[in-house]
Amino acid sequence: MARECIFCRIAKGEAPAYKVYEDEVSLVFLDIFPVEKGHLLVTSREHYEAVHNAPPRVVAHVFTVAAALAKIYRDILGAPGVNIVTNSGRAAGQEVFHFHVHVIPRWRGGGWRRLVERHVLTEEEAREVLGMLKPHIGIVRKALIDAGLVGGE
Ligand code: 5GP
Ligand code: ZN
Repeated sequence: MARECIFCRIAKGEAPAYKVYEDEVSLVFLDIFPVEKGHLLVTSREHYEAVHNAPPRVVAHVFTVAAALAKIYRDILGAPGVNIVTNSGRAAGQEVFHFHVHVIPRWRGGGWRRLVERHVLTEEEAREVLGMLKPHIGIVRKALIDAGLVGGE
């Protein structure tokens, strides 16, 4: 773990974040500069620099969580599209060097090219997103159980 790493600090509860979901391996919270409302970051609890040096079981876990969140946005909340993106390396646009996957619902279209327009997350928007996701968040755990990545209850 890198002591100064912001995502490690969030994972340890030392820095604030609007948390959507957490388990033994992963943590999901709202991006502070969302591309669109509901922009989430799925991170590993352990510190790995990026997807290319995280263990495959962690990669599988984090992407399964990301896919389940995309399912909530697409199938339940009616988003017409979702981008799932991970950046590995500064040349790819990575700014936080702790493995994470972006889940970006696309309410207005525009596709993956529109990744650079950002706004500042407000508390009001954060509360709205948490409220939208909360009733459906059990889908994430179910997906992990179905994938054999965690045990059933
Ligand atoms: P990257 O470019 O590394 O894939 O994306 C890093 C993301 O983390 C960016 O979208 C940025 O807005 C977000 N971010 C950076 N610092 C913080 C923080 O302290 N808290 C939260 N919630 N998001 C952050
Ligand atoms: Zn870290």
